[in-house]
Amino acid sequence: METKVWSVDKHVDDIQSYPQIIQPAQLLQDNEVVAFPTETVYGLGANAKSDKAVKKIFQAKGRPGDNPLIVHIASRSQLDELAEEIPQVAEELMAAFWPGPLTLIFHKRKGVLSELVTAALDTVAVRMPDHPVALALIKESGLPIAAPSANTSGRPSPTAARHVQDDLTGKIAGIVDAGATGVGVESTVLDCTEEIPVILRPGGVTREEIEKVAGEVIMDASLKDKAAAPKSPGMKYTHYAPKAPFILVDGNLSFLQSLIDEKKSEGLKVGVFAAKEHETEIRADYILAPGKTSDLNSVASGLYDTLRKFDELPVDIIFGQVFPVSGIGEAVMNRLLKAAGHQVIKQG
Ligand code: AMP
Ligand code: MG
Repeated sequence: METKVWSVDKHVDDIQSYPQIIQPAQLLQDNEVVAFPTETVYGLGANAKSDKAVKKIFQAKGRPGDNPLIVHIASRSQLDELAEEIPQVAEELMAAFWPGPLTLIFHKRKGVLSELVTAALDTVAVRMPDHPVALALIKESGLPIAAPSANTSGRPSPTAARHVQDDLTGKIAGIVDAGATGVGVESTVLDCTEEIPVILRPGGVTREEIEKVAGEVIMDASLKDKAAAPKSPGMKYTHYAPKAPFILVDGNLSFLQSLIDEKKSEGLKVGVFAAKEHETEIRADYILAPGKTSDLNSVASGLYDTLRKFDELPVDIIFGQVFPVSGIGEAVMNRLLKAAGHQVIKQG
C-alpha cells in the first residue's frame, strides 16, 4: 500500500480547509487509517464506529486485540454520543484540562462504537487532543476517531512523523506531518467510573494537577505492584523497549560508572540514557541525554526519540539513569520502567 505524506504548518489559520486536512479526513471517512500529530505523540487514527477501519489499526500495529483504544474527539458535544453518564468530577476535569493530555474513562453508550475499540468492555476511554491539526482532522472527518500511538506495538511511541514512517510505511494510507510533538509522553488515563477517580496510566497531566481540581485520586495498584492485575488491559504489555537490553540504574554516578566499566571490560559497547546534567561526567561508548533532571518536561519530550536513537547505534547494552518520580516524572519513570522490562539495579 502506498503511504501518502501531507506536510502541514500547524500555525496557519483555518487549517480545516487545507487539502492536507481534507484528503486524510476523506480517507478516515472511507475507513482507512491515517497517522496524525497530537500534543503527546503521533496517533494512528480510524473511524471508531467501523469494525473494518478499527481492525486496520490492530493489523498495522500488530496490537493485541484485548488492548482497548482511546477515542479522540474535537468538541464536547461529541462525548454525549459516546458516554452513558458523565459525572460532575469529569465535567470539572474536562473544563480544566480539555483539550489536553487527559483521557477519561466513562460507562459507554452501547451500539455506537465498534466493539473492537473498547475490547468489548462496558467502558470507553475518551480524550480531546490539544493540537490544531488533530482537532481540524477530527472535525473535518465528522467522526469519533480511535487512535493509539502510531508505532509498531512494543516499540517506542512516535514523537515525529519519521518515527511513524520507520514503523508503518506501506501499512497505512497516510501520515499527516506537522513536525515534532510537544509533551512527548502519552495522556494520563483516569477512570471516572469509580467513586474516587483512579489513575490507570500516568501521563501528560500530572497527579498533582488533577488533584487540585478533583480532590484525592488513587493510583491503580498495578502501577506500584507488578503482580497486581491491571485495571487497564494495556498496562500489562511490555512497551517502548529499545532493541538492546535496557537496564535502569538507581545509584550515584560512581556506581553507574562501575557498571559501565564492568561491561566494557567484557568487550561490550555500552550506551547510557543520561540526564543532561551528567552527560559530560559519564564515560561510555554512547551517551544520549534527552533533557535535564531539573526540567523533567524536557526529559519527557525527548524520551522516545532517545530510545529510538539507541536502535541506530551499535550498542550491546544500555544503562538508564533514574529520574525523580514527581510531576511529569511519574510518567517518565513509568515509561522507562516499562522500556526496561522493570529491570533496575539498585546501589547496595
Ligand atoms: P495507547 O493506545 O497505547 O495510548 O494505550 C491506551 C491505554 O488506554 C491503554 O493502556 C488501554 O488499556 C487504556 N484504555 C483504553 N480504553 C480503556 C478502557 N475502556 N478501560 C480501561 N483502560 C482503557
Ligand atoms: Mg501506545
